[in-house]
Amino acid sequence: MNITLWGVRGSIPTTSPDTAAYGGNTSCVEVDADDWMLVLDAGTGIQGLNRSKNLRKGRIDILLTHLHIDHIQGLGFFQPLFDPEAEVHIWGPAGNSQSLRARLGRYFSPPLFPVYFRNLTCNLILHEIEKSEFTIGPFSVSSDYVIHPGPTVGFRIQNQDSVFTYIPDHEFVLGSNPLKLKDLRWLSGRTLADGADLLLHDAQYTTDEYQKKQGWGHSSMDDTIHYGKLNQVKKLLLTHHDPMHSDEQLNLLKTQLREKYNSAVDFDIAVEGSRIEL
Ligand SMILES: [Zn+2]
Ligand SMILES: [Zn+2]
Repeated sequence: MNITLWGVRGSIPTTSPDTAAYGGNTSCVEVDADDWMLVLDAGTGIQGLNRSKNLRKGRIDILLTHLHIDHIQGLGFFQPLFDPEAEVHIWGPAGNSQSLRARLGRYFSPPLFPVYFRNLTCNLILHEIEKSEFTIGPFSVSSDYVIHPGPTVGFRIQNQDSVFTYIPDHEFVLGSNPLKLKDLRWLSGRTLADGADLLLHDAQYTTDEYQKKQGWGHSSMDDTIHYGKLNQVKKLLLTHHDPMHSDEQLNLLKTQLREKYNSAVDFDIAVEGSRIEL
C-alpha cells in the first residue's frame, strides 16, 4: 500500500514560512492500493488531495478518528462530496447520545457552513464504528477507542503486504505509566499498534510542554518513542505537530531524540507531502 501525508499539523493550520518544510495543514492521510483509496481524517490537508491526480472517481472511503475541528475542517471542501457520480462512505466513531449524522450535521449547517448534508450531491453513506472490524476493497480495517477527549478511535489497516496503524490524537499515558504495565493488553491502542510495519502517532509536545498540558489528549515525542518500542513497530512516524513548532525546532528535536534513543526504534518526523511505500 502507498501512504501520502497531506496534513501532519495538530490543532490549527499554519502558513508561516517557518513551518513550510514540515507543512502547516491539519490531519489528512491518503492510503491507496489496488486502485482503492482510503482518506484518513479530513483536516485542511484534504485540499492537497483535491488537487492530486490520484484522486479517484467512483467510491472513496473517509475514515474519521474523531470530530475535532482539525480533523474535519476540510470535509466540506472535499470535491467528491459534490460529484453525483461519486459514492462517498464516511466512517466515524459512535457517540454516547447523538448519531454520527447528527454530530457531523453541526458542521454541515449554518453558521459554521452554508451547505447542509442534504445539499451534498454524491451518494453519501455513513457508518458508525466502535471496536469494529470491516473490509474495504483490499483493506482489512480494525478500529478501537483510544484515550482522547470525546469518542475517538485509531485504525489498523492491513492488506496482503503490510500493516499501517494510524493514531494521530492519543494520550496513552493518562492515568497510568505504560512502562509499568504488566499486561500490555491494557495499553490504549495496543490492539491497533502491535507489531505494525508503520505507526503514524501523535507526538505533539516536548516533554516540558506535556507537563503543562496533561489531559489535553496528546502525547510527548519521548512517550511516543517508548510507545513504538513497547508495540515493537517496525517504523514510527511522529505526527500532529504543535502549530507553534517551527521547522528549525522540529529539526533540532529530531536530532536530540536520535541521540537520546539511538536505535531504540526506527523513527522519523512526518513531513507533509511525503509518500511512503509499505
Ligand atoms: Zn487533532
Ligand atoms: Zn483531537
